[in-house]
Amino acid sequence: MLIPSHIPTQKIENPLLLEKGIHLFVKRLDLVHPLVSGNKFYKLKHNLIKAKEEGHSQILTFGGAYSNHIYAAAVAAKEMGLKAIGIIRGEETLPLNPTLAFAKEKGMLLHYLNRSTYRSKNTTEVLEGLAAQFGHFYLIPEGGTNALAIQGCGEILSLDDAQFDFVSLSIGTGGTFTGIASSLAANQQLLGFSSLKGNFIHQEILDLLQQHVNSPPSNYQILDQYHFGGYGKHNKILVDFIKDFYLQTGIPLDPIYTGKMMFGLFDLINKGFYERGTKILAIHTGGLQGNIGFNQQHGTDLDLR
Ligand SMILES: *Cc1c(COP(=O)(O)O)cnc(C)c1O
Repeated sequence: MLIPSHIPTQKIENPLLLEKGIHLFVKRLDLVHPLVSGNKFYKLKHNLIKAKEEGHSQILTFGGAYSNHIYAAAVAAKEMGLKAIGIIRGEETLPLNPTLAFAKEKGMLLHYLNRSTYRSKNTTEVLEGLAAQFGHFYLIPEGGTNALAIQGCGEILSLDDAQFDFVSLSIGTGGTFTGIASSLAANQQLLGFSSLKGNFIHQEILDLLQQHVNSPPSNYQILDQYHFGGYGKHNKILVDFIKDFYLQTGIPLDPIYTGKMMFGLFDLINKGFYERGTKILAIHTGGLQGNIGFNQQHGTDLDLR
């Protein structure tokens, strides 16, 4: 599983940025792989290496029916010569949606758990049941966040990126945020935009930082008001923003994570949150595979590639 050593960074030109004197760049993790976009590869990398080292022949992981993590795990496991079992929340619906059809085509074995069993997926009882059914496996948690995932996300920023005053990204479980926080330069600020509703994320990030980062940094801030109603929720303002951004920059965004982050970033810039001359690096964490399924569900036209 190869992650290219150089990830392109693109400067954004836009009248608002010019007016406010802000230099905005996007780090295109969505380009790390021809099929699979984003941060999930970094989260999987050291887990799959360890699975191989420990002599496992298969991994097992969890996700929703449109999960970027499931999609990436299917491809990455195949490239590493590991079998993959995807435990999907809810009942099977046929025909398979584009995410699951792709995962299956990549050789992932799909298995469904009803919502209540899925909620207990981390109990010994459910895990032992899965082992009895499928044989031994290397377990990767839902969303892929664990210590090795955080280690992998610590490799996202390169030395060049120390030139930026702010680094900005979307938060789901917070694994990617924590990895990036661990590799931040002392003069840099990290800004995370939560894709979930609720202020629980502040404590969650504190816990992750304390657990996984030596001398946890304090130069970060989490914004929890750009979720558009909750995880996976959207409205016309968000969809129009994503389409406009694409027309202006050629950069496609997804409506679950990166679209909300970029919307929040532009809102802050507009409100004068940043001093003139500030250099911002926004991390494009990918997630574009989900746009096709999102369009089918919601009648939007976000397949921007
Ligand atoms: C999973 C995902 C995130 C969130 O990553 P976490 O490590 O769970 O915080 C952000 N953006 C995209 C596109 C994702 O797929």
